[in-house]
Amino acid sequence: MLCVLAELCFLLPDLLVARDALPFYLAHLGVFRGILLAAIVATFVLGAASMLLLRSKAHGVLGMALGAIALLMGGPQAQAIDVGASRVSAGLDYFVLELLVLGMLFVPLERAFRLREQRIFRAGWQTDLKHFFVSHAGVQLLSFATMIPAQAAFAWAVQLEFQKAVAAQPLWLQFLEILLAVDFTTYWVHRAFHQVPWLWNFHAIHHSSRQLDWLAGSRMHLLDALVTRAAAFLPIFLLGFAPAALVAYVAFVSIHAVFIHANLRWRFPYLRWAIATPEYHHWHHTSDEEGIDKNFAAFLPLWDLAFGTAHQPDHWPQKYGTVKFQPPEDYLGQLLYPFRRHGERTPYG
Ligand SMILES: [Zn+2]
Ligand SMILES: [Zn+2]
Repeated sequence: MLCVLAELCFLLPDLLVARDALPFYLAHLGVFRGILLAAIVATFVLGAASMLLLRSKAHGVLGMALGAIALLMGGPQAQAIDVGASRVSAGLDYFVLELLVLGMLFVPLERAFRLREQRIFRAGWQTDLKHFFVSHAGVQLLSFATMIPAQAAFAWAVQLEFQKAVAAQPLWLQFLEILLAVDFTTYWVHRAFHQVPWLWNFHAIHHSSRQLDWLAGSRMHLLDALVTRAAAFLPIFLLGFAPAALVAYVAFVSIHAVFIHANLRWRFPYLRWAIATPEYHHWHHTSDEEGIDKNFAAFLPLWDLAFGTAHQPDHWPQKYGTVKFQPPEDYLGQLLYPFRRHGERTPYG
């Protein structure tokens, strides 16, 4: 399926590929054609292996059929169709590449170092994949919307001289400062999402997963994601860091956010109170009484320690999910969930 979607990116880059990334792809076109070729070959090899080894032949046949469609669409030599530049484009490339890279990284890791016995295609994975698709393919609109509140409400507070001084610092220092500032802001936004009942209705979607893995972190109501990202952007907008430091931060966050949800039993004895690990964030997702409304910080347990919400005992949590109300399992139902009446509700849902 990713091969077919990648073919669409090659055929209709003006519509489907993130505008900012286009020059990068053009400069490394041979590399990306090579990746596509390798993926198509892998599709046929894995499809054939599925047909030989698995009792159900359907998935193998489907995989090979999709590989054949990718070849018919031009294979690794697909040429762009000129439809003229459009103002907005989807980030289908971002979805395809992230899913490929994260899947190839985390699926084997979770097989080798799993915390809990669970299937790769566990309950709810399709819903989570839809969340993953929307947040990645819609990256341009999302990041655009993310910047509006800060620009509209706080443009007056921007001090250019101050921003120049911030951007002139060593990159590693700026990276740490972004982590500290963004995490402080999102700590309070996250805490509000838990403690204000009508906000919890949105955030309950993220907590509705009963099984955690690398894909489960994508399950998040769009408005929750928007508000959290807008809050994260505010200190960045005011402090004005160097672009290289921001790129490093965004690259780090996009892997780290996936990592802390992963079904991995690694404990990092020397780091577990310095930076959020899977153990730390799994406690945030627990429905065990002892872990309710703990560990709001996304990266730095420091903020939970400072504000009295840290919880990381020597054992792992027993179970995950919401306590009282269970949001629906389908994507649309989850989007509509906060707008429906739920009767009496506690902040702990
Ligand atoms: Zn939460
Ligand atoms: Zn989470």
